[in-house]
Amino acid sequence: MHYFAVSRGQSGAGLHSRLMPKYASVLVDESGGRAFDYEVPPALTLAVGTRVRVPVRMRSVLGTIIALSDTTEASGVRPITDVVGDEPALSAQLIRLAEWMSDYYCCPIEAAMRTVLPNVIRKAEVGHKMRLFARLAREITPEEIAGIEKKSERQAEVLAALRDVGKAMPVTELCEQCGAAHQTIQSLAKKGLIIIEPEKVERDPYGTEIFIANKNLELNEEQAAVFARVAQAIDQVAAPTADAMLKPFLLHGVTGSGKTEIYLQAIERALNHGLGAILLVPEISLTPQTVERFKSRFAATHHEVAVLHSHLSEGERHDEWHRIRSGRARIAIGARSAVFAPVEKLGVIIVDEEHENTYKQEETPRYHGRDLAVLRGHLEKCAVVLGSATPSLETAHNAATGKYELLRLTMRVDDQKMPFIRIVDMRMEAKKSSPILSDPLSAAITKRLEKKEQVILFLNRRGFSTTLLCGKCGYVAECPNCSVSLTFHRATNRIVCHICGHLAVAPTKCPDCKDPGIKYSGTGTEKVEDAVAKFFPKAIVRRMDADAMQRREAYRETLDAFRTGKIDILVGTQMIAKGLHFPNVTLVGIVNADMGLHLPDFRASERTFQLLTQVAGRAGRGDVEGEVVVQSYTPFHPAIQFARHHDFIGFYDQEIEWREKMEQPPFTHFVLITVRSPHQQRAQLSIETLHRRLKEVLPPGVTLGEPSPAPLEKSHGNFRYHLALRTRAVLKLSRALRSVLDKLTWPEDVFIVVDVDAHHLL
Ligand code: ADP
Ligand code: ZN
Repeated sequence: MHYFAVSRGQSGAGLHSRLMPKYASVLVDESGGRAFDYEVPPALTLAVGTRVRVPVRMRSVLGTIIALSDTTEASGVRPITDVVGDEPALSAQLIRLAEWMSDYYCCPIEAAMRTVLPNVIRKAEVGHKMRLFARLAREITPEEIAGIEKKSERQAEVLAALRDVGKAMPVTELCEQCGAAHQTIQSLAKKGLIIIEPEKVERDPYGTEIFIANKNLELNEEQAAVFARVAQAIDQVAAPTADAMLKPFLLHGVTGSGKTEIYLQAIERALNHGLGAILLVPEISLTPQTVERFKSRFAATHHEVAVLHSHLSEGERHDEWHRIRSGRARIAIGARSAVFAPVEKLGVIIVDEEHENTYKQEETPRYHGRDLAVLRGHLEKCAVVLGSATPSLETAHNAATGKYELLRLTMRVDDQKMPFIRIVDMRMEAKKSSPILSDPLSAAITKRLEKKEQVILFLNRRGFSTTLLCGKCGYVAECPNCSVSLTFHRATNRIVCHICGHLAVAPTKCPDCKDPGIKYSGTGTEKVEDAVAKFFPKAIVRRMDADAMQRREAYRETLDAFRTGKIDILVGTQMIAKGLHFPNVTLVGIVNADMGLHLPDFRASERTFQLLTQVAGRAGRGDVEGEVVVQSYTPFHPAIQFARHHDFIGFYDQEIEWREKMEQPPFTHFVLITVRSPHQQRAQLSIETLHRRLKEVLPPGVTLGEPSPAPLEKSHGNFRYHLALRTRAVLKLSRALRSVLDKLTWPEDVFIVVDVDAHHLL
C-alpha cells in the first residue's frame, strides 16, 4: 500500500475529489488500535485526519483517517458511511506526533490518538451550543415601521431594535430589550419581515471578563538580544530557506528577568507573519493572572487567545478546541495537553518553566509535554523556546552540547538584586523552643510585620502532622491500602492517606494498647499555620494548599486578599511557589528544605535546587530587597548551598558529573516497569517472568536491573514491583519491550505499566 502523506499547506478542502485516492486507512476508535481499509465514496472529499463513520461488522463506529491510498490488500472493502465535522480533526503532523508517541512511550496507538484528539471532540456528542438569532429579512424604512406601529406597538419596537443594531440578535435578548413575547417575534417571522435562525454561540470560559489592552514594553538590552534571536527564528519559519536549521532555544533567565515579556513579543511576531503560537505553562501557574496577561496583550489586535486546562467544562473545552481548529484563535495557552492544540501553521511553541514535573503525564501515554513540544516543533518546522530559571538537567545538557541554543537573561528587570538567602542549621535550633520556627526565622518575620510587609512560608506537605505514633507500644497509623503512614488533619479531625485518600476519624488513644499518650509527629502546613498564628497573634495568617483550596474560587479569593494586603502571612505548598507576583512580599521562609532530599530518586537534588530557587524567587519583587530564610537539617548539602548562592551553573556542573559517572539521565534513558496486583504473589511472579523474558531478548546496550519491591510497596490496595532499565537507544528498547509485552499474557488482576523517561520513581 503506497500512502500519500498530506503535506503542510494542503488542506482537505484543497483536495479536489477528482484526485481523491480510492481507499482510506481508518483507525477505528475502541478497536485496540487497529486500522482497516475502507472505500472512499466518490462524493466525499477526505483528508488524513478526517473523522469518519464506518461500518465494523454489524455496527457503525467512529474513526480517524490515518492514510489514503489508491490500492488495498484487503478484500471485501466497504465504503465509508459518513464524514464527521466540517474539516479534518487532525493535521498530518499531529497524527505523526501520535504515532511517534506510541512508538517512543511504548503505548498503543489508540491511547496516543485518544490523547491527541480529546474525548469531547471524538465523541461528537457534545456539540456546539446553538441559540436562536433574529435578523431583518430585508431593509425596512422608518415609515414602514411607523405603519406597523399603529397595529402593533411591540412588533414595531422589535423591528426598530433590529434596525438599530444592524445585525442579528439573540431572540431572548431581543424579547427582553423590547418587552416582547416570543409570539411577537414569531408573527414577524410569519409575515416574512424577520428571519429566525439558530447560530453557534461560544461557551467562553472568560466570557464575562473584560481584558484591557496593554502594549509591548520596551525591552532592556539583555532582553533585546534574546528577542533578536527568537524573532530571527520566527522570521525563518515564515520564509524558510533551504539550509535553515531551527534549533530549539533554551531561555535561561532568573525569575523576574522578563521572560514572559519575550514570550509575548515572540507570539506577536508569529502573528504578524500570519503564524500561530502555542504556550505551555504548568497547570499550577495557569492562574487568572497569567491568562489575563496574554489575553490583555492581544486584546488590542483582536487576536483571540484560547485557553485549555483541566478546569474547563466539556462544553467550554469543545468550543475552545474548535476556536483553535477553525483558525479564529491563533494562540493556544494551556497545560501539558495543549501541546496537541490544533493550531495550524505554527510559528512558535513556548514551554514556560520547562523543568516542571507536571509536564510529565503520570498515566498512559506517559508523555512529557516539553519533549513533545520539541518534537512537534521539528515536525512543523517552527521555532521552539524552552524557558526556565532552573532548567532541567536534560535541557541544560542539550544546550551545553549545542543541540539547543542557549539564551540567557542574568538580571532582574527592575535591577533588583537576587534575594539574600540565609540558611538556618536546624540541628542547632532543635533544642530551643519551637521546632517549626527557628529563632532567626521568627525574628525575621517580626521585623517584616513591623514594617507592614508580607511574608510567605513554604512547606511541601499538607496536613497537620505526618505520623500518628504511640509512644508506648510503637503503633503507627498506616493506610490499609498503601504502605505509608496516615497524615493527621486537625481541621477535620481525620487521619488521611495522601496516596489513595483513605480517611478515618483520628483516634484519641492508641487503637492497639489503648494508651492515651498517642503522639503526632512531623510537620504539615496546618501545623505551621497553627504555630505561626500562636506566635504572631496579631498577624492575619492564611493557608493555601489542596485542602484549603477545595472550592474553585477559593484560590482566587485568597490570592486577591493577599495581593490587597488583607493577609500578612501566607502558609502554603507548591501552590504558592510558582509564577505569582507579590510586590509587597519581602520575606520567604522555607520551613523544611530537606523534605525532598532523601527520596530514592536520582532527581532528588535537582528537585530541591529547583524548588528552593523558585520559592526564593517570590521574595523582593517590589522596591524592597527580598530575604529568604531556609531551615535545614543538612545545611551543607550541595543542592542547598548552590541554591543559596544562586549558582545554577555550579549546581549543573557538579550534578552532571555525577549523573555521567552513574550513567543516569541525561546520559541514558531511564525506563521503569511497574507490575501491580492486589495479590502479592501474582505481582511478584509476574515481574520475575517478565524479567526472565527480557533478559533473553533485550538488545545490547540495555542495563536491566533486578526485580524489586517498589519504594511505595503498596498503593491503593495493590502490591507493586519495579524493574528498572537504562539505555542510550531508547526507541530500540521501547520496541523490544513492546514485542515482549504483546506476546505475554498475564493473570486478570495483574497490571503492567511501562514508563519511558520516568519521573515518578516511587
Ligand atoms: P519572568 O517571566 O522572567 O519571571 P516577567 O516577564 O514576568 O519575568 O517580568 C517581571 C516583571 O517585569 C513583570 O512585572 C513585567 O511586566 C516587568 N517587565 C518585563 N520586561 C520589562 C521591560 N522591558 N521593561 C519594564 N518592565 C518589564
Ligand atoms: Zn492509602
